[in-house]
Amino acid sequence: MSAIETKKDRPRLRVAQLVRDTDAEGPGRRFALWVQGCTLRCAGCCNPEMFGERGGELREVAELVGLVASTPHIEGLSLLGGEPLQQPAGAAALLAGVRARGLSTMVYSGYTLAEIEAQAERDAAVRALLEATDLLVDGRYDETQPEPTRRWIGSRNQQMHFLSDRYAPDDPRFVADNQVEIRFENGQLLVNGWPAAADALRDALRAGQRNNR
Ligand code: SF4
Repeated sequence: MSAIETKKDRPRLRVAQLVRDTDAEGPGRRFALWVQGCTLRCAGCCNPEMFGERGGELREVAELVGLVASTPHIEGLSLLGGEPLQQPAGAAALLAGVRARGLSTMVYSGYTLAEIEAQAERDAAVRALLEATDLLVDGRYDETQPEPTRRWIGSRNQQMHFLSDRYAPDDPRFVADNQVEIRFENGQLLVNGWPAAADALRDALRAGQRNNR
C-alpha cells in the first residue's frame, strides 16, 4: 500500500488537477482527473510536477464521485496522472462510483496491462480498479517514440485496451485527429490533450512568459 493510500471505508485520492469538461482525454466529452504521485518517472514525462506524493490535495472519493456525476453532458471519467495504480483503493472506488452512475471510465497508467494483472493477483484494490475500467492506455511514456497518429496515446509502445464492451476499436472517434486544449483557470494557463503537441505548446508558452518578464 502506498503512503498516499487511505482508509478502506472512506477512500480518498490525492488529486493534482481536475478538468470538468474536456474533449481531448478520451472518447466524448469527459471529466478528467490527474492524480498526484508517480514513482515511475519516465524521461520526458509531460507532468513532472505530479511526481511527488505529497503535492496536490487529498480528497474524499465520495465527494469526487458527486462532482463527476453532477457535471452535465459528460460521457465519462478519464483518470490520468501521476500514476492511478499507485493509489489503487481510491482510484478503484472513484471508477466504480462513477460507473455506477452510468458513466464510462478510462485510465492512463504507466504500468503495462501484464504488470497490472500481476499486481491484481495479490492486491484486491488493483483487481477492483481493473474491473471498473472500460478503457486502459498502458505503458511507460517513451520520449524516443512519440506517437504521431493514434488518438490519446503518447508513445508508440503504449497500447489501448478495451476491458469491457462499452467501447469498440471501430468507433470512428478512435481514429479522428488528436486535440490539444488550452484554458485559463484561476490565473493559470492549462494545456491538456495530445502529449507531443501539448508539450511543444507548454514549452512555447513558458518561453513566452520568460520573454515577457
Ligand atoms: S507513468 Fe505517466 S505520470 Fe508517471 S512518469 Fe511516466 S508518463 Fe509521467
